[in-house]
Amino acid sequence: MKQTKRQIRNTQYATLITVYCSLITVLLASCMTPSLAAEPTPPFAAARETATPREVQTEAPMRFVLPSPGAEPVSGWRPPLYPIPWAVTSYDHFYFTRPNPADQVNWPQPDYRYGGVFFANEVHTGVDIDAFLGTPVLAAGSGTVVWAGGGFYTGVVDNTTDPYGLAVSIRHDFGYQGKPLFTLYAHMSQVDVTVGQHVEAGEQIGLVGETGKTTGPHLHFEVRLGENLYHHTLNPELWLSPPQGWGVLVGRLHQYNGLLLESTNVRVISDETGVIRVVRTYGSQTINPDPYYQENMVLSDLPAGLYQVSMVYDGRDHRFWVEILPGQATYFTYTMYGDFKLIPPPTPALDFVPMTPTPTATRRP
Ligand SMILES: [Zn+2]
Repeated sequence: MKQTKRQIRNTQYATLITVYCSLITVLLASCMTPSLAAEPTPPFAAARETATPREVQTEAPMRFVLPSPGAEPVSGWRPPLYPIPWAVTSYDHFYFTRPNPADQVNWPQPDYRYGGVFFANEVHTGVDIDAFLGTPVLAAGSGTVVWAGGGFYTGVVDNTTDPYGLAVSIRHDFGYQGKPLFTLYAHMSQVDVTVGQHVEAGEQIGLVGETGKTTGPHLHFEVRLGENLYHHTLNPELWLSPPQGWGVLVGRLHQYNGLLLESTNVRVISDETGVIRVVRTYGSQTINPDPYYQENMVLSDLPAGLYQVSMVYDGRDHRFWVEILPGQATYFTYTMYGDFKLIPPPTPALDFVPMTPTPTATRRP
């Protein structure tokens, strides 16, 4: 049943892409069919890639068909999340829980990560989480609802053509570096909260839908720091609490002259399981790196252990090893042609001040 749905969605994608390609004029954080040009993949790698989280759902070897019309089970089981706020080091800030229920897919779609460029000049300012229509959308942290309904992108209340569709935005009870934090939930089918309402982490705020500029039902999720504006987003994968025992890989890949290596496919290969995950580096336009890490690559939800990081350019396969530690970010820098370091970022942003692990709860009306 799930496979059939995906096939239908894929058909819808193809049709919609044709339309969108001729119409797009607005920069937008919406969800598109990936334009990532896949690198040649060795046969063994292709086989292993079927074990990536997204594929596990469709490749489950056994599934009993029950007569219940309820939601399909999620086969990609993961450990429960660390409690929020979670920060093993003073640089980490996993302040948010997942905006989807624990028994559903609650991890970003690999093909629609933060900073992805799906069309010219259109950069993805959030992550997309695969979900069926009607799946509950949950507040990622406590805070006050500052937007509920249509029109969030355009600022025109109830604008039915707004690319975010029905959306909710929350100003959280805690901030970071003295600045307020916001989250945004878009493309919903139903909004269950009103502006000014206070919500707790995990509280239902609406249902997953496909309103606005989207090619299928899913949740578009953003984290914003300082201002609740399109150009103030950060990579949500650095803010969502990891599954227990799992960690996050954060990288800054640049050329000799210091310019970031943009649009570079990076393979992260588990030494234990051989599973290959692919992530693409992003640039510095529209989206923003973390104030401390200054990264251009984040890959969350990695079971702790050893991984090989691999990049192919100039016909050479550049590889090195990293260790993912449970519940925290592992950071590396890589300079084109071989200078690999596992030391902290050399030049944090000038105004960076490490946070204490627990954000201050300053409840607002
Ligand atoms: Zn999106």
